[in-house]
Amino acid sequence: MFSKILIANRGEIALRIIRTCREMGVKTVAVYSEADRHSLHVKFADEAVCIGPPPGRESYLNIPRIISAAHLTGAEAIHPGYGFLAENAEFSDICAASGFTFIGPKPEMIEAMGDKARAKETMKAAGVPVVQGSDGVIKNVDEARQVAETIGLPVIIKAVAGGGGRGMRIVHNIDELAQNVVMAQTEAAAAFNNGDVYIEKYIDRPRHIEIQLFGDTHGTVVHYSERECSIQRRHQKLLEESPSPVVSEETRAAMGAASIKGASSVGYVGAGTIEFLLDKDNKFYFMEMNTRIQVEHPVTEQVIGLDLIRQQLHVAAGGRLSKRPRKPEGHAIECRINAEDPEKDFRPSPGQITSFHAPGGYGVRLDSHVYSGYHIPPYYDSLIGKLITYGADRAEAIDRMKSCLDEMVVEGVKTTIPFHRALMRDERFRAGEFDTHFLESFNWKKSG
Ligand code: ADP
Repeated sequence: MFSKILIANRGEIALRIIRTCREMGVKTVAVYSEADRHSLHVKFADEAVCIGPPPGRESYLNIPRIISAAHLTGAEAIHPGYGFLAENAEFSDICAASGFTFIGPKPEMIEAMGDKARAKETMKAAGVPVVQGSDGVIKNVDEARQVAETIGLPVIIKAVAGGGGRGMRIVHNIDELAQNVVMAQTEAAAAFNNGDVYIEKYIDRPRHIEIQLFGDTHGTVVHYSERECSIQRRHQKLLEESPSPVVSEETRAAMGAASIKGASSVGYVGAGTIEFLLDKDNKFYFMEMNTRIQVEHPVTEQVIGLDLIRQQLHVAAGGRLSKRPRKPEGHAIECRINAEDPEKDFRPSPGQITSFHAPGGYGVRLDSHVYSGYHIPPYYDSLIGKLITYGADRAEAIDRMKSCLDEMVVEGVKTTIPFHRALMRDERFRAGEFDTHFLESFNWKKSG
């Protein structure tokens, strides 16, 4: 095992990684921007290095500064967390070239999966079901029209380099296709520095189901069941749970086997997630692969009984994965508590937390880096913390979450707590009857 690692991230995930390292006796180095001087990841790491001003490109995205910090402190490995440089193939490459173990996959794997159109081709070749659509990148408007006519409307235009719910356009009318393709290309070029787009069938009211995967350096790839992440706003997740209320034992086995096949075909190493859309007929389609630890990994940890950060360190150090199949036991739910105003379409609400009380008790977990008096900087994401409850079954996990949300206090900024409170009381949510469009017809103010 490593004796010291550097964490190239901030916020709750940096703290989450530090906690596991402390248990394992692995020393930690935090890096931080000037805006994060008073952050808990800085306080609880064994060492901390300031790497620059608040904007990401001058600090958490600045590869030379992070590598220098690793050299200065004598770290052996670098954990990228999620976001920032976690899926940057160049960073993985530079870490290795500079003599540090990158706690994540090799650059080739990140590259193969980072381009969504290429990833789809790779999965299709491995026999994983994919959504019908263009063969890779759309070359021109005529080709887009041909594809749309073949697969039928509606279609979704997606940026190959898109992420975080951005870079997607839905088209219901063939007359609007050409214009939308051009707009999607222009937007993608501006946002992701890559204007390539592809087209796929827009699935009617799907559910978002993803499989947690792990690969080791000895050729073993295993899966740890699914997470359901259908409760979304603007194609971004707000609540996740494991297991999914609708995935049967058979569907789980089929999705798990397809995921293992896909990941094995590229010799995948590390933590990864394969995202699928599940349609009304219980057919599933590959959407994308994320080559990192996900925000929502705790729900899997709770039902599978494994610390996935420990597992990441274990395989990065050359350890073997157990091939023993693990089935989910009980039920776990995660609510993303964001500094956002649900009354104003989830607009960010940064500022100072004037008062903070964390809920607790049996089956409760809060992964958070905030405290009373903490300033949420406007430069980064708006996550205050992830509230996770675990229960013997889904109803118990929901009731526990309801009680925790009523107990939790975050003052000074607007948060998503009132939204989640209403959700826990909603009959359709409680019955497990929802899809990715749930929020369009959910009036949380009325339900709450
Ligand atoms: P990102 O990488 O930006 O998160 P994804 O490809 O994971 O983008 O898609 C995010 C969400 O967009 C999905 O969870 C789903 O709600 C919606 N979506 C994406 N592709 C389709 C599709 N073909 N049909 C219907 N909905 C889709």
